[in-house]
Amino acid sequence: MTLSVIVPCFNEEEALPLFYQAMEAIQPQLDQEFEYIFVNDGSRDRTLEVLRELAAQDSKVTYLSFSRNFGKEAALYAGLQAAHGELVTVMDVDLQDPPELLVEMVQRLEADPDLDCVGTRRVTRDGEPPIRSFFARMFYRLINRISQVQMVDGARDFRLMRRQMVDAILEVTEYNRFSKGIFSWVGFKTEYLEYKNVERVAGQTSWNFWQLFSYSLEGIVNFSDAPLAIAFVGGALSCLLAFGLAGVVIVRTLLYGDPTAGWPSMVSIILFLGGFQLLTIGILGKYIGKIFMETKNRPIYVIKERSEGKG
Ligand code: UDP
Ligand code: MG
Repeated sequence: MTLSVIVPCFNEEEALPLFYQAMEAIQPQLDQEFEYIFVNDGSRDRTLEVLRELAAQDSKVTYLSFSRNFGKEAALYAGLQAAHGELVTVMDVDLQDPPELLVEMVQRLEADPDLDCVGTRRVTRDGEPPIRSFFARMFYRLINRISQVQMVDGARDFRLMRRQMVDAILEVTEYNRFSKGIFSWVGFKTEYLEYKNVERVAGQTSWNFWQLFSYSLEGIVNFSDAPLAIAFVGGALSCLLAFGLAGVVIVRTLLYGDPTAGWPSMVSIILFLGGFQLLTIGILGKYIGKIFMETKNRPIYVIKERSEGKG
């Protein structure tokens, strides 16, 4: 059996050689034949040169290189499409997905023929800013409440899958890709190995707080239509409130006449309704934006260069 190792790389010239060494070091512990598929996601450093060298030295290494940065999700998809293996794993190049764990994952999958996927889950978030961990936890709580698809808190993209599951993921051809959701949407029996968070060996994370925040919004909009219900529920509530208030005003006018008071409450109501309408239009806009991108039917990535030989 061949094991395809898919590795998205964005500005990873320093981490790449370390990753390759670490993977070669664990290889003797596995009986699978390896196939590396590195996806250069429009890096602006020497990542592509390093990949060319690796591919020249080692026939197990293939690479794809995008024409620009398309994002990790696109890189994962390209890698999955290029993979030939019966078993496929997805790993970060910064060694935050420990290669030693892969050995255990393969053993688990081989031990249980019913199992389709072994995922990994960080049980600690040491080395991460507390505010980031806090928002991550909030995100998982929210998404699991409002989406049919369940996402495991702390689950990483690092996972080992059988061919059948990979083919199912490839069938999901949407442009707005949120892999954590797609992995769980396709179903199949998945077990999670737990491990402690590891910090990256070299280079820098390419995510800042706002990027992560908007990534989590992507997850919500792509996998839940609950925000659309805000318009409905909120609208219905404010209608009820308006009827109640109208009753109060009519009764009060009948009893006490009309003293033309009530300007502050009027302004409050106008402001509240105006704000609420803008909010719901914004939510609608988010979904329409998704439909817009989806109907354009653009390719998920564009390849500029690939290693010779295979593929
Ligand atoms: N990555 C990518 N394209 C991007 C951003 C990141 O292919 O636009 C890759 C990156 O090279 C790494 C993995 O995705 O292999 C995870 O990225 P990173 O370590 O920056 O994320 P973090 O671990 O901090 O969440
Ligand atoms: Mg990382």
